[in-house]
Amino acid sequence: MQENILQQITQKPMGYQQVIPDVVLLEFPLVNAFIVGNPKINNGEWVLIGAGMAHTAKDVIQAAEGRFGEGNQPKSIILTHGHFDHVGAIMELLSQWNVPVYAHELELPYLTGAMDYPPADPTVNEGLIAKISPTFPNKSINLGNRVQPLPADGSVPWMPGWRWIHTPGHSPGHVALYRESDKVLIAGDAFTTLKQDSAESVLTKKKEISGPPAYFTMDWEAAEKSVKALKDLNTQIAVSSHGLPMKGNELTEQLANLANNFASVAVPEHGKYV
Ligand SMILES: [Zn+2]
Ligand SMILES: [Zn+2]
Repeated sequence: MQENILQQITQKPMGYQQVIPDVVLLEFPLVNAFIVGNPKINNGEWVLIGAGMAHTAKDVIQAAEGRFGEGNQPKSIILTHGHFDHVGAIMELLSQWNVPVYAHELELPYLTGAMDYPPADPTVNEGLIAKISPTFPNKSINLGNRVQPLPADGSVPWMPGWRWIHTPGHSPGHVALYRESDKVLIAGDAFTTLKQDSAESVLTKKKEISGPPAYFTMDWEAAEKSVKALKDLNTQIAVSSHGLPMKGNELTEQLANLANNFASVAVPEHGKYV
């Protein structure tokens, strides 16, 4: 039964949906990535947020070319952090695209081969994804000089109107991206809109604002502060790297509940990093 669920998850083809006219969600079996850019505005310049799972470069390129035209490359790739499911296709993509990659300064050691993430902790809860998480790679990739720190002034290269917000906890250099003009948030893994530790939830994508994926979260105190800071933005539309987009009252109420009850809603009762 459980194996059956995992099979159903991993066999799902990549899907995509336009969240707002210039944000498209690319849906991989375990994670989302985002295309930010409107083909009709800014000469059709666009940015890729996150780099999906391994062997998905073709799908990403196909989706992007379908939207922006054949041979069209992004202006940059922004990484909210460097976990395996967020950088899976990046080497393949960079072999085809000559574009810079940006991440927070504190995440660079995990993107340049200098430091590995701690191994995933399967003891955080009973969820099936948590249980299989020790099979998830925790080794640093090495992007060498193709990755650069995000600008210190908070701007996001090639994403006018957006700023990056340091939201550590899940990882040291985790960032979320926010656009004040329409209160749109790309939360990365700072919070999720499903229960990522549970295979049922990953399969059905039932909307439920939850903490960061617990098996990989390194610092729960910092993670709580980050969620509170994101709640205070009064975001109207939020997308996370795990789950479906959420907006309006449902978003506001559930995000407030997570921020106000973080210890009971998100923090595992036990675990190596608690
Ligand atoms: Zn992560
Ligand atoms: Zn993730």
